[in-house]
Amino acid sequence: RPLTGKDKLEIAPISTWLPDLQRPLVISGPCSAETEEQVMETCQQLAATGKVDVLRAGIWKPRTRPNNFEGIGTVGLEWLRKAKETTGMKIAVEVANKQHVEDALKYGVDILWIGARTTVNPFSVQEIADALQGIDVPVLVKNPINADLELWIGALERLSGAGITKLGAIHRGFAKYGETRFRNAPQWQLPIELKRRMPDLPMICDPSHICGNRELLAEISQQAMDLNYTGLMLESHIDPDKAWSDAKQQVTPERLAEIIDGLVLRNGYG
Ligand code: PEP
Ligand code: MN
Repeated sequence: RPLTGKDKLEIAPISTWLPDLQRPLVISGPCSAETEEQVMETCQQLAATGKVDVLRAGIWKPRTRPNNFEGIGTVGLEWLRKAKETTGMKIAVEVANKQHVEDALKYGVDILWIGARTTVNPFSVQEIADALQGIDVPVLVKNPINADLELWIGALERLSGAGITKLGAIHRGFAKYGETRFRNAPQWQLPIELKRRMPDLPMICDPSHICGNRELLAEISQQAMDLNYTGLMLESHIDPDKAWSDAKQQVTPERLAEIIDGLVLRNGYG
């Protein structure tokens, strides 16, 4: 049952924040911004492929366990601003609290996303929504870690309640216990149900965090295209094996371009 009446969120068409998108949206870039050289080089190589619309990079990293790299912090926003100036690409960053929102907007970040570990927490999502009151910046909401569709919808509703219409969802898979093919179970039925209830909501697949390895990325990307997703978010790094986070799942910009080239677009755009 699609949401109706007061439950129906106002969702702006993606063309209002990404004009001229002629193909599935591709968001790519490193899991984490590490050094200025890494950000600039990755961004330049991605721009040179001509296949990437938005550069992503984590500045503040919500690590599951302590004593891992927790993000470079605001200095990384300077590098992203420079990368944007040099290549003309739009920039997307994860935000998890009010301070992140203020810093990201100060440095001209174009698109914000809420990570899976934040979507689970209504207090955090509300804090972000409050910080964005009256600022209609595009916000992409990753699914919560756990397979709870209502939490995902609740986060979208909180942002909508703050006046944000440039909304999208990112499907990054759901936590599971034990070894499986995937780092996070895709559970396609959840994004499909979300899309049924909010048909206007752009749905973006994040194969990197679903797969947790490079080998399965093309398969999951294709599956998302077959399900008519609006786009993909795929992590890329100039030297994936040396990445400071999520090394196993990142690909070089060259391999990223191959994956995008290999997609069969049966649902238009092609
Ligand atoms: C990320 O995009 O690097 C990230 C931390 O993802 P998630 O919130 O999906 O785990
Ligand atoms: Mn990552």
